Amino acid sequence: MNIRSAIGFTVVAALVAAGTHTFAQRPAIPQRLVAMVGGTLIDGFGSTPVRNSVVLIEGDRIKAVGQVGSLAVPAGAEVISTEGMSVLPGLWDMHVHTMLNGHPDYDHWDKTYVNRLETEIMPASAKQLLMAGVTSARDLGAPLEASINVRNAINTGKLQGATLYVSGPFLQHEPYAGTDFFRWGVKGIDDARGKVNKLADAGVDVIKLIDQDLMTESEVAAVIDQAHKRGLPVVGHSHRPEEIRLGMKYGVDNFEHTGLATAPEYPADIIDMIKARTAQMSKGPFFWTPTLSPLWNYEYMRDNPEMLDDPSWQVGLKADTVADIKAALIHPDQFSYYQLSPARKPTLKRKFQQLREAGVTQLIGTDNGVPMMFQSQTTWTELDIWVRELGVSPMDAIRSATYWPSVMMKRDKDVGTVSAGKIADIIAVRGDVLRYIDLLQKVDLVVQKGKRVK
Ligand SMILES: [Zn+2]
Repeated sequence: MNIRSAIGFTVVAALVAAGTHTFAQRPAIPQRLVAMVGGTLIDGFGSTPVRNSVVLIEGDRIKAVGQVGSLAVPAGAEVISTEGMSVLPGLWDMHVHTMLNGHPDYDHWDKTYVNRLETEIMPASAKQLLMAGVTSARDLGAPLEASINVRNAINTGKLQGATLYVSGPFLQHEPYAGTDFFRWGVKGIDDARGKVNKLADAGVDVIKLIDQDLMTESEVAAVIDQAHKRGLPVVGHSHRPEEIRLGMKYGVDNFEHTGLATAPEYPADIIDMIKARTAQMSKGPFFWTPTLSPLWNYEYMRDNPEMLDDPSWQVGLKADTVADIKAALIHPDQFSYYQLSPARKPTLKRKFQQLREAGVTQLIGTDNGVPMMFQSQTTWTELDIWVRELGVSPMDAIRSATYWPSVMMKRDKDVGTVSAGKIADIIAVRGDVLRYIDLLQKVDLVVQKGKRVK
């Protein structure tokens, strides 16, 4: 069962129970009441923050939102003081790799940890994300069974971690050597539809398409069409111009990365295609996850590596894993992965602005897990770059990490805002995040599905 149908079933069951009085002889199970009281609430809808807010939580859902003096805290409720804090929806990171955790040598990592991904690495990543205030994350590219099992274990409470939306394996022209346990090649249109069906049958939440410019057009069309037939959105790489053109032509729902290497900007024909798409109200917003932080912060991290020593990234990992990663991080100046980054960084601002001006709805996502980018400390840096370097308003950046991701994943009826009826995924941080966005690097309080987990 996939997450959507699991939650759908719970909602239906709850509605049936609530609207039926024939069960009256059985006393209703009293739901735990929690009240978060006093902080300034940024609810995710974008309007004026609510001062001296009261958020009432019943079970795993938000029951009511108001203010001290007008919304009473019921007797018996557990009160969590949020005085002096900003209160906001749990963050989403729309592009993570839970199977990675900062190690710079992928060949070594894939070989060494293939049998430890499900039991150690992916659960550790999900836990670290949650402790960083990321209550939801989209995991784009990992072995199928492990992805489904870890996601489900979190959903059923067996593991503590960010709620995951998983793609399972990448679909691409051909897997790179030694990566076929998390990358599936596509050969012909029947195979394209078959692979999508296999992923859909296993219960993935999204299809991840990369190197689509190396596929035949009919294969690209088949992957996207079959995904849509199965009710799954398609997330596409956009490193090369032709990846974007093909993805746009056949209906990719959300592009990832800023791409185009060291080229100064997107070509005019691509911007025109985007504008033609964003002009269509009936198709909904057109999403793009620029994942700037690894490129933007590489030189900073290389030259100021204290963050690499932060013990937060070791949570949940075994001692030998930690030792392996530490030993590999001694020479960040030599990582081949990042050698072109200093030349790419100056192009990012222009490309980011082009997308924004073309009407794209940008989402917070980081490529979390790539070399030096630890699950525990990367997501906030993307908001920080948008706000402090690229002039995005803090409110817009927060909405791109809360409300808009929930809309993209069609989960906005249940998550993404702090409002009555939603699942209680809420974070709080001491101070004013609308003035100092980097306060998000130290999230003080995390509530997930109504339970305080930090
Ligand atoms: Zn990625």
